[in-house]
Amino acid sequence: MHRTPVVAIVGRPNVGKSALFNRLAGRRIAIVEDIPGVTRDRLSAPVEWQGRRFEVVDTGGWMSAPEDRLAERVRAAAEAAAREADVVLFVVDGRAGLVPEDAEIARALRRVHRPVILVVNKVDRPEREDALAAEFHALGFPEVVCVSALHGYGIGELLDQLVARLPGGGEEVAEEGEEIRVAFVGRPNVGKSSLVNALVGMDRVLVDEAPGTTRDAVDVVLRTDRRTFVLVDTAGLRRRARIRHALEFYSTLRTREALERAHVAVLVLDATEGPVDQDQRIAQEVVEAGRALVVAVNKWDLVSREHATDLARRIHEALRHMRFAPVVFTSARTGRNVRRILDLVARADASHALRIPTGPLNRAIERAVREAHPPADASGRPLKIYYATQVVTRPPTFVLFVNDPGICNESYLRYLEGRLRASFELVGTPIRFFLRPRR
Ligand code: GDP
Repeated sequence: MHRTPVVAIVGRPNVGKSALFNRLAGRRIAIVEDIPGVTRDRLSAPVEWQGRRFEVVDTGGWMSAPEDRLAERVRAAAEAAAREADVVLFVVDGRAGLVPEDAEIARALRRVHRPVILVVNKVDRPEREDALAAEFHALGFPEVVCVSALHGYGIGELLDQLVARLPGGGEEVAEEGEEIRVAFVGRPNVGKSSLVNALVGMDRVLVDEAPGTTRDAVDVVLRTDRRTFVLVDTAGLRRRARIRHALEFYSTLRTREALERAHVAVLVLDATEGPVDQDQRIAQEVVEAGRALVVAVNKWDLVSREHATDLARRIHEALRHMRFAPVVFTSARTGRNVRRILDLVARADASHALRIPTGPLNRAIERAVREAHPPADASGRPLKIYYATQVVTRPPTFVLFVNDPGICNESYLRYLEGRLRASFELVGTPIRFFLRPRR
């Protein structure tokens, strides 16, 4: 297997590194704090663009440095991150203009000899682009892209340039194959092991084990009469049901690794505990990883009739941000709906891999636009969508060519998403949009 190329985002505090990270990672609502020095720990997320896959890394964690040493720490962190990266996105602030700290980071980056793309962020008015590019050219990096991480402006162009600089080969996106790769995720004791064992024990199911690609991972291969499912990194789960050990098997890291190798995640919840915050966090992680999602509410045998309706309502409410995910109420103990999990996984997988031809896609968008008018900017100029195209699958990712990405808003994108889901029966998969200005 090829190593996944790494793309590091570096820059001084508050230039919008986190917003850019969120944008690239496909989170549609960026979590951005406008306070200098506020950032999260180092984060990474897989990204796919034009059939190429890479890992984007947002550097942080060094922000706690005392004021006087901050500049030095920023430079050191940028340099360290760049050393581990295949391509560096050096982010500067187009609103603030060129500042001396940028030049210091530029010097540090030149020392590590990695390809650098200079990303001028917070460019909300395209007509300023030439002037900004000229100003920042002084830093000495030939490749300059102007973006607005917050509004999505220029992101498609940045991704195009980025994949062009990835080292040869890279990791090709898996070919559409026969087998469906599934990861069971969830908190401890919700019944993941029990469900996996119930699936393995079903009638007319053939079971094999295959070594996974990481360390001690073992995949379980299930063959039903119709499909082959690979339950990734399942050995620990199967072992666990026999020998209960105190050590928590499904650590966050482990969940991430399993998601990395799966197409569909089955998030298992415990019906007796109702939805808890951690369930939502894991669901969020699945979506951010760009995987399809099916929710299994397990231990349903323990829920009394009078509580069932209320509980189901609370679960739907808790998962309202993942309304696209089908929910199934299961019992590993009685076998209720266990087989149904596989049916839903197969449906979610088909949606995840769906490629919508340009004709039908544009007709659906045109219809949606006719039925609900797009937003307008302060001067009354409406958003115009000229053309849409699907750039990749898994998950379905669309580029919309528009007059001005800055005019679009989150709620209109959600409306378009809903319409595409209805038109093409997309179930269980996240959908991503990128807006690009047509010049
Ligand atoms: P994991 O940590 O998510 O793999 O959870 P386990 O599969 O080890 O299950 C945790 C506990 O819940 C065990 O005692 C199981 O017997 C029990 N359990 C799992 N599924 C069900 C179910 O559907 N109904 C009931 N009543 N108990 C269950």
